[in-house]
Formats: sequence, C-alpha cells, structure tokens
Amino acid sequence: MKNSLMKTVFFTEILSGLALTFRTLFKSPVTRRYPKVKPVVAAGYRGLHALAKDDDGKMKCVGCGLCGAYCPSQCIHIYTAEGEDNKKIVERYEVDVLRCIFCGFCVEACPFGAISLSEHYEYADYTKGSFYMTKEKLLENWDKYFAGEKGKRYYREFWRPRAEDLHGHDDQAMFSKIKGKVKE
Ligand code: SF4
Ligand code: SF4
Repeated sequence: MKNSLMKTVFFTEILSGLALTFRTLFKSPVTRRYPKVKPVVAAGYRGLHALAKDDDGKMKCVGCGLCGAYCPSQCIHIYTAEGEDNKKIVERYEVDVLRCIFCGFCVEACPFGAISLSEHYEYADYTKGSFYMTKEKLLENWDKYFAGEKGKRYYREFWRPRAEDLHGHDDQAMFSKIKGKVKE
C-alpha cells in the first residue's frame, strides 16, 4: 500500500515510461516506412493465386475439381464443358479471394501443378469485384509473378509430395510396371 502511494505521489511509473522512450529515441527504428520500404517476402509466401501454364503457354488445369473439393472455404468455382474433340475444357475457373484463407490446400491437392499462390500481396482495392479472380486474370497472374524459371522452381521447392515422390518399394509388384514406364 505504502509502495503504491509512493508511486502515485512521485509519478515513478510515468518517469520510468519516459526514460524508456528516451533510451529508444536514438536507436534505429524497428518499423518500416511501408510502402516506401517493402518487406522482404519469404520464398514460398502464399499470396495472390495464379493458374500455371506449361512451356507452350497453355493452361495446365484440366478441370478435375480436386482443388475446389479440398478448399475449406469453398471459394474455388470451376465450370467445365465438352470440347469439339470430346475433351473436357475448363470454361471458367474462378477464385473468390476475399473468402480464401491462404491455407494452400488447393496447391497441395492439384495433381498437375496447375494452381499456385504467388508472392504478390499488394492487391488492395476499392471494389469487391476486383477480388474475384477469373480464369483470364489468374492466367495473367502466372505471367506476372511466375515468369521464366521462377514458375518452374515454384512446385519443386515449396510443395510436397512431388509426382516423383509417389513410388513404392522396389519389390512392390503393383508399382513395378508404372515405375518401368517412368524410366523409359
Ligand atoms: S488457399 Fe485454401 S482457402 Fe484459398 S483457395 Fe486454396 S484451398 Fe481455398
Ligand atoms: S487446378 Fe488442379 S486440382 Fe484444380 S481443377 Fe485444375 S487440375 Fe484439377
């Protein structure tokens, strides 16, 4: 009681707070002046979505729907149709980014390495519509954020399992035929 009265009378807590302020006044700041100084984003950061393209510039997605089935936020919408050669075509692939929790399950689920999360995080906007990513926007994002080697490295370095990780033991009969094909 006496101690707290002394603190109140002599403003010791205020003085110790001011002393702390004074001690740190001349130290270099720990904060950044964003957006003038951009934070360094760690490789593999989960930012805005992109739909991957192959070496010929074609969309890798085959419209199997696995990413949408895994997505806990149910924010991926895929619409497919039958093409002229009876092949499935992906007419629309859409991500409602405002619902996304950036868990990365869609990337893990995709057997074709077709959906990705880029390092781009500056996509604030004034309209809700700009957060609804269409197939065209998602493919553009691949060109913007995964151009060249970066796109090739992305799945190799950050996502497991890779296709080549999925194999059985050498004496496991059911896999031997498939493994033989891979080696050819
Ligand atoms: S990161 Fe997660 S929440 Fe976002 S689209 Fe992919 S699976 Fe859905
Ligand atoms: S992104 Fe991958 S998992 Fe999703 S529909 Fe396309 S191929 Fe299937």
